[in-house]
Amino acid sequence: MKKNKLKHMKLFFKISGLTLLLLIFVLFFWFRSNLIDRNPGYKADLKIISGNPSELNTGFAAFPVTPEVPDKWIDKNGDAKYNPGDGDTFTDGNGNGVFDPVWIAGFGNRRAANGIHDDLWARTMVIDDGKTRLAIIVLDAIGIMNDDVIDVRNRIPEEAGVTYTIIASTHTHESPDLLGLWGKSFLKSGVNRDYLEYVKIQAVKSLMAAVGNMRPARLLLSEDLTGATSLVMDTRKPEVFDSGLRLIRAVDTENGHTLGSLIAWADHPETLWGKNTLITSDFPHYVREGVEKGVFNGDTLVKPGVGGIAVYLNGAIGGLMTTHPSLPVKDPITGEEFKEPTFEKAEAQGKQLALLALKSMENEVEEVDTAGISLIVRTLTLPIENTAFRIATMIGIFPRGTSGWMKLRTELSVFTIGPVSFATLPGEVYPEIINGGIEAPAGRDFLIEQVEVPSVREIMPGKYKFIFGIANDEIGYIIPQSQWDVKAPYTYEGKKSPYGEENSLGPGTAPILHQYLREMLIELDQTKYVAEKVK
Ligand SMILES: [Zn+2]
Repeated sequence: MKKNKLKHMKLFFKISGLTLLLLIFVLFFWFRSNLIDRNPGYKADLKIISGNPSELNTGFAAFPVTPEVPDKWIDKNGDAKYNPGDGDTFTDGNGNGVFDPVWIAGFGNRRAANGIHDDLWARTMVIDDGKTRLAIIVLDAIGIMNDDVIDVRNRIPEEAGVTYTIIASTHTHESPDLLGLWGKSFLKSGVNRDYLEYVKIQAVKSLMAAVGNMRPARLLLSEDLTGATSLVMDTRKPEVFDSGLRLIRAVDTENGHTLGSLIAWADHPETLWGKNTLITSDFPHYVREGVEKGVFNGDTLVKPGVGGIAVYLNGAIGGLMTTHPSLPVKDPITGEEFKEPTFEKAEAQGKQLALLALKSMENEVEEVDTAGISLIVRTLTLPIENTAFRIATMIGIFPRGTSGWMKLRTELSVFTIGPVSFATLPGEVYPEIINGGIEAPAGRDFLIEQVEVPSVREIMPGKYKFIFGIANDEIGYIIPQSQWDVKAPYTYEGKKSPYGEENSLGPGTAPILHQYLREMLIELDQTKYVAEKVK
């Protein structure tokens, strides 16, 4: 009996040992396949020094990236559901076809799209100085990972002649998940691979069309740095904004028609908030409509638009720039005030921004007839310090590989076009890093003084300084290290850790990015100096 028991135990350990070994084996290959470097050796690195100022050509295009969403999801029992619950697949209202729900990004998990309010877009501006051709694609998306950006670049035909392609996202919280965080549960990616593929195809089409639409152009530059501040609030101390409206309007040199415009501001496109289930680009939709076609009161045109294709671009939206449901927004024409998150509120906000933009485009405009493009691009790696992000990467929730053990590849770029300078950042940067005002408050986790100084805009050359956030990647929040706060006691006498750190790669991110940007901007300024000296 005793002997028999021993035999059983031996067998048990033998089997469980084998199972464990098999499990380790499977896990090892699963993790390895998720962590593999998808673009080994990839570097976007560039350094281009502008020559003498020359005539510019620009082109614009817009291609939809709207997902397919049935009017109503129908569950297994044939009942129309506002939000699908059980099961992963649903048929449309006529019982046709089977769909995976379109999971909306931003806010919580399990928010399935229930229809389309307005189209999502891949909007492109191409600018060329005869030597360098830059393409700026802006997606109505939560963001896309650097690996997917590289994938889009690899698909761009050589004949496009593009030197460097920037792919930024508006970060609308009312569009399909492209990052993986907002699926059916937090353990399931919300990314639909077919939709991601469609976005990539449309992005390339948009770029090719913009190249095809290129015309000799002059740039009209203007800005309104104060007018739009009341439309955004900062939900985390210190209160620092990036609420300046910066504008570039490209006009056909021959006929004076507007080819398109670039509208840069900084706020989370989440005015519709987390209960909306209609696909929309949120307030940027109304901004673009207003700038292109004019601002209306019902059917009456109040302010004519400039025509062309408007591209909306988001700047420093971390820390956290939002049009929170507690922030009222007034319709600029009727004076009606909206507080609850509704399409009327997003429209009122968009109209206000469009009116400010259109007025600014009329007043104190600087014209640029000739310019040269200088450009510096750096690929770099950042450590994934956040444990949840590490797990999400290992189990494939984040659709990106790694570049070294728990490191990810990302990218920064800085460039100038005449008196305008630009810096692209791969995530949601806190405005303090861009505009100054970083604090080292009592209760902070690291007993250090401000690290990311001087501010990025202080180092940026030129007169007009554009920030592109969520450009070429979405790594999450970029938080000043001296404001990092996950441990008690908390900063600003808070009772708990402020929101932000859980969606950041870690406290090391901001110092690394700032250091790179600083070096690149100094180098950019020197290239301009060298170029001018040579001439
Ligand atoms: Zn965000």
